[in-house]
Amino acid sequence: MAGPPQYKWFFETTTPVEGHMHAISRTIATRQTRFQFMEIMETHSYGKVLILDGRIQSSQADEFIYHEVLVQPGLLAHPHPRRAMVIGGGEGATVREILRHRSITGCLMVDIDGEVVAECRKHLPEMHRGAFDDPRTRLLHEDARAYLEKTSDRFDLIVIDLVEPLEEGPACLLFTKEFYSLVRDRLTADGVMTMQAGMTKVNELFFFGAVNRTLREVFPVVAPYQGFISCFGTPWGFILASKGADPRRQTAEEIDRLLAARLDPADLGYWNGAAHLHSFNLPKFITRAIETNDRIITDADPLIVS
Ligand code: SAM
Repeated sequence: MAGPPQYKWFFETTTPVEGHMHAISRTIATRQTRFQFMEIMETHSYGKVLILDGRIQSSQADEFIYHEVLVQPGLLAHPHPRRAMVIGGGEGATVREILRHRSITGCLMVDIDGEVVAECRKHLPEMHRGAFDDPRTRLLHEDARAYLEKTSDRFDLIVIDLVEPLEEGPACLLFTKEFYSLVRDRLTADGVMTMQAGMTKVNELFFFGAVNRTLREVFPVVAPYQGFISCFGTPWGFILASKGADPRRQTAEEIDRLLAARLDPADLGYWNGAAHLHSFNLPKFITRAIETNDRIITDADPLIVS
């Protein structure tokens, strides 16, 4: 008699004392690159997933949530975004999301790891959907901080889509006050920055609070928000920062009107006026964790997650 199906499992430790499991149907690619350990797997629930240093970066089934939440509010807070930059961005879905806006004339992606990007390009067409071949896209493989230090380019939108600052990881010095000052200085006057900023679940808010606190040293407007990313098994924090534009002043009607004018809203699966209000209106325990956090992350005192 056949027993219950025997699955192979991928177990992700989300914190040192918690985790999330995915049943795996096949391993598509595994590679130790110069910078990180990369796996692309197919899961039973979420389709293909990209995993870096043991952490799920995105899944085929719900990456639209992560990438729309990461990108759309930044573009919609800008009056007429033309030039965009993605810091990190591996899978190419962040660039894809930016290119939906008809006003975008150029999108530069700077990801340190050419091997990860090449594997994503080959194995995850469902995510990038040809974004790397769009004539508006320019791709560089170098440390994004080194690039920003030397460039004279200015951007209307900068999206920071990095891996977490893990010990020995390539992104440790891209979550500091000095780095955010560099990002601010490379934005145009109306420029907007958005980023992924770690989980927002109970008892795990220190990192999100510290990044908010650090950004407030650098930007006059810092607007935290969140979305639930089910393949991560936890709500996830994002932050929009700018020199003036504040998404919390935008109404649901304004967001829906802007979306209709700038892209085809039918192409989106998550972001609209209602999602905008839902995301930027945070519950009390999160705002309290942000308000009471006084940790400023600096090059001399970086914050490493485990
Ligand atoms: N969606 C993701 C998540 O959940 O955190 C992050 C997206 S993406 C896969 C992260 C990318 O950041 C990786 O491809 C990695 O190579 C890139 N990265 C890490 N450190 C970097 C650095 N110093 N400069 C540029 N890119 C970097």
